[in-house]
Amino acid sequence: MGDKTLSKIAWENYSEENLLELEDLCSKYKDFLSKNKTERECVNYFINEAVKHNFKDLREVIKNREKLNKGDRVYYSKMDKTLILAVIGDESLENGFNIIGSHIDAPRIDIKQSPVYESDGLCYFDTHYYGGIKKYHWVARPMCLKGVVIKSNGDKVVINIGDDDNDPYLGFSDLLPHLWKDQAMKKGVDVIEGEQLNLLVGSRSLDGKKDKVKKLILSILSEKYGICEEDLISAELEVVPAGPAKDYGLDRSMIIGYGQDDRVCAFTSFMSMLKIDGIPKRTSICMLVDKEEIGSTGATGMESKLFENFSAELLNSCRDNYSEIVLKRSLDRSYMLSADVTCAYDPNFPNETPKQSTAFFGKGVTISKYTGSRGKSGCNDANPEFLAKLRDIFNREGICYQVGELGKVDQGGGGTIAYFLSRYGMEVVDIGVPLQNMHAPFEVSSKADIYETYKAYGTFYKYLV
Ligand code: MN
Ligand code: MN
Repeated sequence: MGDKTLSKIAWENYSEENLLELEDLCSKYKDFLSKNKTERECVNYFINEAVKHNFKDLREVIKNREKLNKGDRVYYSKMDKTLILAVIGDESLENGFNIIGSHIDAPRIDIKQSPVYESDGLCYFDTHYYGGIKKYHWVARPMCLKGVVIKSNGDKVVINIGDDDNDPYLGFSDLLPHLWKDQAMKKGVDVIEGEQLNLLVGSRSLDGKKDKVKKLILSILSEKYGICEEDLISAELEVVPAGPAKDYGLDRSMIIGYGQDDRVCAFTSFMSMLKIDGIPKRTSICMLVDKEEIGSTGATGMESKLFENFSAELLNSCRDNYSEIVLKRSLDRSYMLSADVTCAYDPNFPNETPKQSTAFFGKGVTISKYTGSRGKSGCNDANPEFLAKLRDIFNREGICYQVGELGKVDQGGGGTIAYFLSRYGMEVVDIGVPLQNMHAPFEVSSKADIYETYKAYGTFYKYLV
């Protein structure tokens, strides 16, 4: 099977039934991507869907001092930006969990804390970008403003402007080509500079002398949202590309949309968790975390004790006698799929991605033994013993998979959340969907790879023991 698997094209083996299931999954995915463009929106979506599938809030279980039984389904959110779901398995928790972890933050442009200013009759919000972006991608295109403003009395105001038919767009400007002689000579990284990413929000004057345009904008914020300028100090506002995710290609074989790194893996792992039927062999966990794009820092990032604390709570809710040694054993004996995207081969840029070691659209879910940069620096580097177990179940279940790494050895690289959980001694490997245009406002994926990834994650929950 080995060689055949590596050269297999998923599309060539689909039945009518497979194609129907693939399109159904992908249409739900497009809808999810189109409506959820921030971490908070994603957590909210996942909780709503989980509740429909009989998941209950672990915090309520803890509060009511209930005990969990085999087959019970729980979710646990942290600060509305990270979510962990679990289905209690048949085996003792001490034997370890099957964990799939992905991230739900995505590169974007954040609003600064004191953002509003007027310049030459135009009103702007000052910004600071989030994650690794090519800044020139984000100008001269329609953008949305999304997030929350927390008033000093604790009231939360939800802001969501740009994706409703009646909403205005916002955006960042670029220089016209007629006058770009100097700009054209700049290096790519300097074509648009961070401090030039100022979000244009208004151009109309109110009566008065100074800051007339800004005054009108502030009065709109006050009337429409009940917020004043000072309230923006305690806000989390993100500027993201406007517009829905759609089919891509005349054959509709691909999907284009914002935030597919890593919401494609978040969505497919979540859907495979919903599909768990009854009681799985091992306790199955789906982790959807924040802050990966800036190094997994903060209380909602993977570097925090979030997962360890959750596991302790889960254990305590499942057993009569909580003990730390049991917690350590369950983490040590766990298996984890670090579900993240990788780079898809692009014939337009052949120099950066060697064909022999890069993932291709349509060849299925992609296993990356290691990530990192400059000699695997900072990566997890999965054990061959663990990879062999995955090959075995994927081959048995007819999952179309391939291997891939992120570009040429000396060209650059990237990291994932893989190495954070390997600290506990568990087996971890990176596995996910290949993308073109990664970190651009609109990323591209292959429907066949999404479908195979969904099936691979389900196979991991079901069969890996
Ligand atoms: Mn990622
Ligand atoms: Mn990324």
